Amino acid sequence: MKAFSDFRSDTVTKPTEEMRRALAEAEVGDDVLGDDPTVQKLEALAASVMGKEAGLFVPSGTMGNSIGVKMWTQELQEVIVEEKCHIYNMESTHLTFISRVTPRPLPSKRGALDPDLVKSNIRVASVQTPKTSLICLENTHNNWGGAVIPLETFKGIRKVADDYGLKIHLDGARIFNASIASGVPVKEYAKYCDSVMFCLSKGLSSPVGSMLVSDRTTIDYARRLRKALGGGMRQAGVLAACGLISLTRMVDRLKEDHARARKLAEAIHDLPGITLNPAEVETNIIVFYFNHPKITIPELLARLREKGILGLGVFGGVRLVTHKDVDDEDVERAIKAFREILAG
Ligand SMILES: *Cc1c(COP(=O)(O)O)cnc(C)c1O
Repeated sequence: MKAFSDFRSDTVTKPTEEMRRALAEAEVGDDVLGDDPTVQKLEALAASVMGKEAGLFVPSGTMGNSIGVKMWTQELQEVIVEEKCHIYNMESTHLTFISRVTPRPLPSKRGALDPDLVKSNIRVASVQTPKTSLICLENTHNNWGGAVIPLETFKGIRKVADDYGLKIHLDGARIFNASIASGVPVKEYAKYCDSVMFCLSKGLSSPVGSMLVSDRTTIDYARRLRKALGGGMRQAGVLAACGLISLTRMVDRLKEDHARARKLAEAIHDLPGITLNPAEVETNIIVFYFNHPKITIPELLARLREKGILGLGVFGGVRLVTHKDVDDEDVERAIKAFREILAG
């Protein structure tokens, strides 16, 4: 048996054998000078999959979102975000550090912002208030336990954005998980957004990299912003070769991750201390609240670790994520560990 069954995140996925071969054989050039054919192929594929004109390969999702915000905003402006979203909470403050805009965090229903609430929080520039210029959405929603944001939310917020001349950036780190779970094509979500960032390095198992897609002019500008942030990569074709495999071979299998997460959630949700509705585990992320008379969250995580199970503590609870590198055996091992620690 492996030392650890690692449920901390889908970022821990290792590249597949096919990726390692593709990486070795990739045709490369200097991408900053514009002549890496494999990067160009990946950028074109990402754009076409999302129904956008152009794509940009970036080293991380955080850089993709940083550029995504920067390209639609200026100083003295404000960005509407959902209060638990990744951009606002988990990306080291690039809204203020890079874009120099203020965030306006709003509450939501499991990650889905109410278009009317968004509308009532839009601010018009005056001598003392910032101008709202951008709305950020996230799908699936990480801190809401991988919740799928309904297409209706996108439609409603697009209407508000159009009425007020705002842009929409989608943090679609796990947009393919959303699509597999809902049956809504990724293009359909992207249609309501001006730009989309998605990760290749999570469930799609690439070692490194994310994509930013939008219209051609905006991506030309984004390419300059990427260079300014130090994200211009030279023979990046070795990484892009893995990304091509992510997009063509790794999407359909995400449904296996979703089934395993649901199975694990169903098996542990009624153990003492755990508050979790398994029906809300729609994709590959389980977030449960934990409040036990004798065991704290750090103690629970330490005891799981002793039994070979790795999870992460978050917001008063625990996060468990399924992915390519945990199988049915790992799930059984986790269920057994939870029962031994919490039952009886
Ligand atoms: C992981 C993640 C990101 C950022 O990706 P990195 O590559 O880790 O920088 C952005 N948004 C969400 C929702 C994520 O889960």
